[in-house]
Amino acid sequence: MNHLRQPIIAGNWKMNIPADFQNFIAGISKNTAKNASLVICPPFSHLGSVAAQNNHRNFQVGAQNVHHENSGAYTGEVSASMLASVGVQYVIIGHSERRQYQAEGHEVLAPKLQRVLEQNMIGIYCVGETLEERKSGRFLEVIDQQLKTIPKDFPAENLVIAYEPVWAIGTGETASPEQANEVHAHIRNFLKMTFGEDFANSIRILYGGSMKPSNAAELLAQPEVDGGLIGGASLVLEDFLAIAAAADNQ
Ligand code: PEP
Repeated sequence: MNHLRQPIIAGNWKMNIPADFQNFIAGISKNTAKNASLVICPPFSHLGSVAAQNNHRNFQVGAQNVHHENSGAYTGEVSASMLASVGVQYVIIGHSERRQYQAEGHEVLAPKLQRVLEQNMIGIYCVGETLEERKSGRFLEVIDQQLKTIPKDFPAENLVIAYEPVWAIGTGETASPEQANEVHAHIRNFLKMTFGEDFANSIRILYGGSMKPSNAAELLAQPEVDGGLIGGASLVLEDFLAIAAAADNQ
């Protein structure tokens, strides 16, 4: 892990709430990680309450989605300014579940990143290939196409990338540390070619896909891996804190 890039451990709760929500928030508030930043991404319904309970500021709050327009007749949607107004600092954009189930692609993902930037929040932009794409050998091209969505002149401080191979999300199957590092290095090289060396060297690239306490340390030890985006294990306080501790000890 590069110590210029402070690691981030982000928990994506998806459409779930931890079994003992209040206990979870109390536990996370006692987080003692010094190097790693923790981000909790609850569903929209719980964002305000999680942010309001963060009295000790030892974690940050992220949303799982945002609408690509600022306001208007978009029933059921939430804008970037609304998220910012309740204390949200990060927004996950382009998660594979939204690419798959909501057919989100470049046309909405690029303006979503822009809306997040306008509110000075940080986009956690997700990229990753399906199993078919990996088997075909084209997976790095797929990732390049997804990275092309990042708007020109996007500031590095408002962007985090998450590499999430779709075949590893929620499946229990994890990319090997070498596979993760290879793709992360490729992503960083793409960013270097497109946005320049300083930009590429300062961007945190998180790994996501069945990260858990038993595999976190070796994934996080890879030089190109700057943290994790955690689904299932982020709902279990002890597991999430164990992953945070693994990041902190790198
Ligand atoms: C995710 O959905 O972002 C994710 C990484 O999920 P899981 O950790 O459950 O594979």
